[in-house]
Formats: sequence, structure tokens, C-alpha cells
Amino acid sequence: MSYDDNNIFAKILRGEIPCDKIYEDKYVLSFYDVNPQKKIHALIIPKGKYVDLDDFNENASKEEIYGLMKGISLVSNRLNISSKNGKGYRAISNISENGGQEVLHLHFHLIGGEKVGKMVEK
Ligand code: AMP
Repeated sequence: MSYDDNNIFAKILRGEIPCDKIYEDKYVLSFYDVNPQKKIHALIIPKGKYVDLDDFNENASKEEIYGLMKGISLVSNRLNISSKNGKGYRAISNISENGGQEVLHLHFHLIGGEKVGKMVEK
């Protein structure tokens, strides 16, 4: 699937729609999910135009991949949910139709602050 510049996260990256920002650097932007599923529900997205994790791993540079992976832990530390300074969390990336992806710009959900529960519905 090709990248659609009108997806909501692209608009957030361009500053056309506000977000509740947690962290930003050259490679990533992190902000709170508008519809939190648990006490803490953050999102982290790469700044590059990637539809999903498969697209990212195939086409992103090593620096972008490193930046996103590092960014996840940076944000989890900042939110005090990491295994080091909190009680842990779940990092999820939904991919395409069967994964239940709604916004077609790669993102990881960082969910924690309390027990997250069952991993998947049966
Ligand atoms: P997914 O189903 O993995 O594509 O998740 C998309 C997520 O984006 C959902 O959890 C939404 O609540 C969240 N979301 C949609 N619009 C916004 C927005 N403007 N700001 C923050 N989060 C959003």
C-alpha cells in the first residue's frame, strides 16, 4: 500500500493538527493517544513516511530504525513505565487489515501504568 499524505499522523507531523507531545527528536515524535486504553497510552511514530512496520524495515535507513527503537525506550523511561524505572509496559504495532491498523503511518503503542492484561482476543 502506498503512503497517504492525508493520514492523521502526517497532519500531526506537519503541525496541522495538535498533539499532546511527550518527546521529539530528528527521527521520532511521541504523543499521548487520544483514546487511552490504559492509564498510560503513548504513541511513537517515525518522522519518515512509512505505512507500517514491514514498509519501515524494508525501506528505512539504519539511522531511522535505530532512532525509532531507541525512541521507544527513551519514551518509556520518560513516562516511568520501563522495566528499569517502572513496572513495564506493552509495545504494540498493528499492521494492516488483520492487525487492525487504523492509521496508515507506522506507530507503536506504549501501554502501561497498570497491568495491561491478555495479549490478544481469541
Ligand atoms: P491503530 O489502530 O494501531 O492504527 O491505532 C491508531 C491509534 O491512533 C488509536 O489508538 C487512536 O486512538 C489514535 N489516534 C487517532 N487520532 C489521534 C490523534 N489525533 N491524536 C492521538 N491519537 C490519535
